[in-house]
Amino acid sequence: CVKQEQSLTTTNSTNPPSEKGSVRVAVRVRPLNSVEKSSCGKSCVTVQPPDTVILGKDKSFTFDYVFGPEKGQSEVYEQVVRPLVDGIFMGYHACLFAYGQTGAGKTYTMGTTWYKGSISTNHGMIPRVINDIFERAKSEMTAYDISIRVSFIEIYNEDIHDLLKFYPSSGNVLLNSNQKIGIREDEFGNVCVTGVHEEPVQSYEEAMACIESGSLHRATAAHDMNQQSSRSHAIFTIIFTKSEKGQEGIASKVTSQFQLVDLAGSERAKRTNASGARLKEGISINVSLLALMEVISVLGDEQKKGSHVPYRRSKLTRILTNSLGGNSRTAMIACISPSDDSFQETLNTLKYAHRARNIENRPVVNQDPAFKEIADLRKQVEELKQKLAER
Ligand code: ADP
Ligand code: MG
Repeated sequence: CVKQEQSLTTTNSTNPPSEKGSVRVAVRVRPLNSVEKSSCGKSCVTVQPPDTVILGKDKSFTFDYVFGPEKGQSEVYEQVVRPLVDGIFMGYHACLFAYGQTGAGKTYTMGTTWYKGSISTNHGMIPRVINDIFERAKSEMTAYDISIRVSFIEIYNEDIHDLLKFYPSSGNVLLNSNQKIGIREDEFGNVCVTGVHEEPVQSYEEAMACIESGSLHRATAAHDMNQQSSRSHAIFTIIFTKSEKGQEGIASKVTSQFQLVDLAGSERAKRTNASGARLKEGISINVSLLALMEVISVLGDEQKKGSHVPYRRSKLTRILTNSLGGNSRTAMIACISPSDDSFQETLNTLKYAHRARNIENRPVVNQDPAFKEIADLRKQVEELKQKLAER
């Protein structure tokens, strides 16, 4: 569990004040695919840079960022995601999630698809985040001790699976296979997943090996709408700890976490002709996705301010409690298809994404309370010394 500072209101606190931050929302339109092109599919989406997307003739929505089909992974990363990595180094939690119907580009954008080698055009956000974190860690190594751990889980039919359970170097496979995965709230009010393996990683390659291994353990089965589609939610978490080396040992310590979420398709079960076991999956996915939509609705609606937020309605919303309306810098990438076949689903996605813009978070720097107390006491000693000197 990542510890969060308990009280941030003390006047002589050395913590920076909490900042007000709404959830940033980007829309990304993927290119028409070859099937859509060969069936003479037309685009029903117009992008008006920098922030407007028009669906059909006149349904216009404004977001924080809009990326047309010609925009590459690096442009999305630079504008939407790099600022979140900046925050991680300062001790702010971050969350990035991709939302949208199956086939709209969520997995491509997040980068849970495996590409070999160092960062290239196709690499999505997760590899870029990992790469950036290690590059920066190198440049800060003389002043700080930085440690990085990763976990990778999947929510499937409202069960949580540890995708790194059988990770070769985890060394505690037996322990993990017997350990029950749970969700609990720590003494600081942070919701955390317990009983999942957190792999310490020292390089981009080591972290990517976890993604490769974890992706192989994801649940995959044929699906009417898209063979490759996944009906599970994948959450890759980076746990980052940075300790400042001072003259008298560690001077300060911050721990932050970055949740990177590749959601299941947001389309309704009935469009996929699902039946039997597939239908059960569809219904369960909807438990988590419907709960997510409900949480976004309550938090994003001015008139519902102060109403009960149904975080407890699903595993997904419990795990994302901190990221939606809590102590995190959060960005959502709504992925849409330009094809006119998908008009209705695209409209639904744009409506939810637009509402998510109203969600207010309160990110704070997550300092280790013990080190913060020492820093506060040191500050008081300095102030008292100065007062004595002035006498
Ligand atoms: P989802 O995860 O939302 O179901 P995918 O990410 O699997 O969708 O995307 C479906 C297909 O479209 C994949 O073959 C993917 O490579 C391609 N694709 C998605 N977005 C883009 C994009 N921005 N540029 C190029 N190809 C894309
Ligand atoms: Mg996908």
